[in-house]
Amino acid sequence: MIDTSAPTYCANHPGVETSLRCNKCGKPICARCAVRTPTGYRCKECVRGQQKIFETAEWYDYALGFITAGILSFLASLLVGLISRIAGIFAWFIIAFAAPTVGMMIAEAVRFVTRRQRSRPLFITVAVAVVLGALPAIILNLIAFSLFGLIFQAIFLFVATPIIYTRLSGIQLTR
Ligand SMILES: [Zn+2]
Ligand SMILES: [Zn+2]
Repeated sequence: MIDTSAPTYCANHPGVETSLRCNKCGKPICARCAVRTPTGYRCKECVRGQQKIFETAEWYDYALGFITAGILSFLASLLVGLISRIAGIFAWFIIAFAAPTVGMMIAEAVRFVTRRQRSRPLFITVAVAVVLGALPAIILNLIAFSLFGLIFQAIFLFVATPIIYTRLSGIQLTR
């Protein structure tokens, strides 16, 4: 149907003659409208559409992110409990210094299992999982009336959760 002999004009700039076409939708585009992608030149609309698909996390990304963050947070909370019992006064320092690192590790693990998906609901799901993962330890401390145990768990959560969240979502800012 497309007459290749007739001059084509950019879909966005009717005055600009062009031989370039978007390799996805076939729309004629001028050099100004063309976006160079690894698969060739594309119009801005197609590039945007592709990004939208890329940023949509699947249900299993939520499941994997939730399980990974939950399990790692649970393990971290056990570690926090262990440190608070054996390290005495140093537990404050150890937990305050280790929490950011542990937070980073959890974030990296989540990024790995979710194939670096970037979606806000996913970050929130992960943050919830981190809190839920620490819940058994918090409940145990409540039952045992261990005030320090509770404080240590709280320190860990207050330090690690925002770090995990910003580490996951921060990638968007550097794009
Ligand atoms: Zn296109
Ligand atoms: Zn154009």
